[in-house]
Amino acid sequence: MRRKSAYICTLAALFAIGIACFTAKADAAYEYEDGFSYSKITKDIKEKITGSSYKKNPDITLDDLRYVRVKYYNYKGKEKEGELIVNKLVAKDVVKIFYELYEIEYPIRQMKLIDEYDADDNRSMEADNTSCFNYRKIAGSTNLSMHALGLAIDINPKINPCVGGAHGILPANGSLYKERDVKKCKGKYKDMMIHKNDEAYKIFKKYGFSWGGNWKNMKDYQHFYKVPKKYRDSGRYEW
Ligand SMILES: [Zn+2]
Repeated sequence: MRRKSAYICTLAALFAIGIACFTAKADAAYEYEDGFSYSKITKDIKEKITGSSYKKNPDITLDDLRYVRVKYYNYKGKEKEGELIVNKLVAKDVVKIFYELYEIEYPIRQMKLIDEYDADDNRSMEADNTSCFNYRKIAGSTNLSMHALGLAIDINPKINPCVGGAHGILPANGSLYKERDVKKCKGKYKDMMIHKNDEAYKIFKKYGFSWGGNWKNMKDYQHFYKVPKKYRDSGRYEW
C-alpha cells in the first residue's frame, strides 16, 4: 500500500513538473496570428537594450520581459512591422490588442524600440513613436514609471500628449493636440486622437488596461497601462 502511494506521488510530481515545463515554454514564446508574436529577449536584443533602456536594477530582469513583433498600419495606411518590449505578464494581451488594432487598420505613426532614440523619452515622443519598456523614473518625479516594468504603452505620443504636469506638454511639439475637442483642434491628425469613443481606448479597456486620459489632474492621453497583482500587492510602487 505504501509503495503504491509513493508511486502515485511520483506520478503526480512528474505530471506537475511536466505542466510547469509546458507552461514555462508557452510563456517564453507565443504566436497569435501570422506576424503577431512574442519571444524571450534574444542575445541581439539584449545587446541593443543593455545600458540603454535596460539598466542593472532591483525591479525587473530581462527574463521578466518579452520582445513583441506586430504589424500595423501607419498614418498613410501602409502596412508596417513594429516592435515593442513589454512585461511578460501583459505580453499576450499586448499581442492580441495590436492584432485587433491591425484588423481595424488603426493608424500608428511608427513602433520602434526606444533604444533607437537612445532611450530618450522626449525624442521618442517627438517622433510620435509608440513604445513601452524603458527603465526610467516618471518625468519630473523620483517614482519609478510603469514603463520601467514594461506595464505601460504610449500610443502615438505626439498627437496624444501628456498635459497638465509640472513639465508642461510632453512632447512639446504635440501642443496643438492639447485641444482634445476634434472640432476645435487644428492638428492635421486630429481625427486620430485617443478619446473615449476611440477604438484604441475600447480595445485596451477590453483587455483590462486603464487610460492616462482619465486621470484627474494630469492627463496622459498616450498612456495605457495594466498593473498585474504581483506588482499591485508588492507595495513597492506608487502609482
Ligand atoms: Zn506612458
